[in-house]
Amino acid sequence: MMEGLQTDDTVISLSNITKNYQMAQHSFCALDNINLIIKRNEYVAITGPSGSGKSTLMNVLGCLDNPSCGQYLLERNDVASQSEAQLAKIRNVGVGFIFQSFNLLPKASVLINVMQPLVYRVMPNAKRKQMALKALERVGLSDKVDNLPNQLSGGQRQRVAIARALVTNPAIILGDEPTGNLDSKTTADIMALFDQLHSQGHTIILVTHEAEIAQHCHRVIRLVDGKIDSDVMNNKEVAYA
Ligand code: ADP
Ligand code: MG
Repeated sequence: MMEGLQTDDTVISLSNITKNYQMAQHSFCALDNINLIIKRNEYVAITGPSGSGKSTLMNVLGCLDNPSCGQYLLERNDVASQSEAQLAKIRNVGVGFIFQSFNLLPKASVLINVMQPLVYRVMPNAKRKQMALKALERVGLSDKVDNLPNQLSGGQRQRVAIARALVTNPAIILGDEPTGNLDSKTTADIMALFDQLHSQGHTIILVTHEAEIAQHCHRVIRLVDGKIDSDVMNNKEVAYA
């Protein structure tokens, strides 16, 4: 059903993706037969009630977790057929992941945190530093490079996390409730930053349960009980059939 609609600018294609969590006595279906195509430079919100499968879907998209069945093509590569080394590379270079809780190293400076995704790369340390400084400049934090995370505001911490996701210049940026811990003014600043990254050509996919943020994106996919309940782009329902 989906293949005919894939075009050159397809970055993400999910066909019949299902995720079952195996429990002691039973299995729980967190994603139920998801079909989805996302194209380059889309700006997507994934919404839905708590427990509807949003984080599970993001973890699959970010290759942090494997689906139980179905096919995931990322930039036309079948994720299931990649070796662990290739997957590590996709996670490191292809996608940038931003979490609600920032996940920064508490005892490392802003600069060291942002250099972190580059530590496995064969390159001189001066080059890593240069790339991290550039990412920090993009998020407006050039003056905080030596601070520790606890010497920053919440919004600044999230900007460090965004710089860390950007440092490898990934085509796709995934955020799981990236403004979930921020006040409304700081949320607006962070959304302006996502707008800017979108205008620079990145594909942006954000999980949010806030209607205001969802409306800010160009496409809103709503999950209910692990299924796509609605998929609306520029106020029109997205149809694959
Ligand atoms: P959301 O992010 O939309 O709140 P999640 O994707 O985190 O939802 O979870 C979807 C459902 O899957 C929930 O019912 C949750 O309890 C269940 N779930 C998530 N992770 C696990 C896990 N590791 N083991 C078992 N069940 C899980
Ligand atoms: Mg979640």
